[in-house]
Amino acid sequence: MKLLLGRASVLLFFALLFVFGLFIFTAKYVSNASAWAHYPTNQHLYAEGKLVSCGNIYDRRGSILCQVKDGEVKFHTDRAVRTAVMHATGDLYGNVMTGARVAFRERLSGWDMINGVYSFHKQAGAGRDLTLNLDADLCSVAYGELSGRKGAVGVYNYRTGEILCMVSSPSFDPETPPDIEAEPEKYQGVYINRFLSATYTPGSVFKLVTAAAAIEHFDNIEHILYHCEGGLQVGGDVVTCHTVHGSVNLERALACSCNAAFAQIASDLGAGILQEYAHAAGFNTSLEVDGIRTAVGRFDASDAVGADLAWSGIGQYTNTANPLNFMAYMGAIANDGVRITPRIVKDKGIFSLINFSAVEKKRVLSSETAQRLKRMMRNNTISEYGEDNFRGLELCAKSGTAQVGGDKKPHAWFAGFLDRDDYPLAFVVVIENGGSGASVAGPIAAKVLQAAVQ
Ligand SMILES: [Zn+2]
Repeated sequence: MKLLLGRASVLLFFALLFVFGLFIFTAKYVSNASAWAHYPTNQHLYAEGKLVSCGNIYDRRGSILCQVKDGEVKFHTDRAVRTAVMHATGDLYGNVMTGARVAFRERLSGWDMINGVYSFHKQAGAGRDLTLNLDADLCSVAYGELSGRKGAVGVYNYRTGEILCMVSSPSFDPETPPDIEAEPEKYQGVYINRFLSATYTPGSVFKLVTAAAAIEHFDNIEHILYHCEGGLQVGGDVVTCHTVHGSVNLERALACSCNAAFAQIASDLGAGILQEYAHAAGFNTSLEVDGIRTAVGRFDASDAVGADLAWSGIGQYTNTANPLNFMAYMGAIANDGVRITPRIVKDKGIFSLINFSAVEKKRVLSSETAQRLKRMMRNNTISEYGEDNFRGLELCAKSGTAQVGGDKKPHAWFAGFLDRDDYPLAFVVVIENGGSGASVAGPIAAKVLQAAVQ
């Protein structure tokens, strides 16, 4: 009897071990199966490190951005277009992690947890294709306008969330990849989609966040005057302006981008309120765009006092902003304070879990504050940027010339939206070390937006 009991418990021990092992395997399978199936040595999907068994990638008009023909990966027929959308499609070898060929590889390979990668034989291509919201020709215009300068351009529909334009520079022709190591400066960060994955000091475009806080915290803000003598003494430091602006109200201060006025406003508001409005505007969090997380722009004024606090309200100090995230804030101002999350993928397909998510909305400003900011941004164009430079666009915008220290040129920002029902488009242009926001990034925005409404 004792012997029998002993043997039974040994058996029970192994049975439990087996069940435990099975449990571990199942858990591992569920979490890692996709990565195993898509490992580049899987010859069902890959040849010489290139994903060769996959569906086509189309733009919103049905142009083929990427396809596999006779085992060869082919991109768009026009070299300029395929270079412009390289960060959207991804390159041959999957170096661009946010490119569709990597980010949406399950969809493109027809992979699912039950059938693995063999399922595509049954589907015969159907369901594996992927249509992006991008307009390839618009991307090409935007990339051309950057003319070799590093930076990013984005345009999206602030009512539907569709991203029409997403370019990042530098880029390259994915069919003839260059020797990147031979020219490290030219191709610095070339595998990064700067629109999604980079952050930059925002400079004066951040004044829109500070202005939102001022509108809601100061009574009769339109009657408050700020005095600029070319700068403002804050503590032992001086916050400088590029010229003497005299007496300005909030609207005028935003239009002429008076640092002295915004230094005063930031000091009066205090770090806590600025922090709250920065958070609402999308700082310190990332947006999830079809499963891709954007880089996090930072705003931390918690330890800032005196001039540091003043500079933080002007988008300097330690502030950083992600271009896509900031564009979404522009969209929120345009859309009565409701931010629609931007989206890259047009058709979600029947196998993907993300296809059930409807348009994702979040109120980030009150409707009244959004309306006031919109009027002020419209005034910026009329009184400063020149309506003639943006003819017919009903442009609402803010420029930014973000100081980056040292002897480097500032980052040039231009962001905003069109106040048009037929073209509800928000945009952002950032040129790394490009110089003045209004005169360098502004004309690029004008060209891209005119192309978008044609
Ligand atoms: Zn000033």
